[in-house]
Amino acid sequence: MARDRSLDEFARADSDSDGDDGDDGGADAADDPASADDDPNFADPEPAVSTYAFSPGGAACAACGETVEKRWRDESGLVCGDCKAW
Ligand SMILES: [Zn+2]
Repeated sequence: MARDRSLDEFARADSDSDGDDGDDGGADAADDPASADDDPNFADPEPAVSTYAFSPGGAACAACGETVEKRWRDESGLVCGDCKAW
């Protein structure tokens, strides 16, 4: 008897999760167009050739090798403020 009851409850829980799956599917479908829109936006802020570069973790200067966050494009590449010929 007790087993029959627990099976019945299991069946109910199963039908409940079916309803949740339907909701999740709808949310995923709504998210997809937004994700597609985000991708092109990520590419836009970084042009192929920039005169200025900011690296949050720091990056090596092309002239002196010093690790700096802000670099500018010069004849030898991206250099620090000290090496940039202003
Ligand atoms: Zn430098």
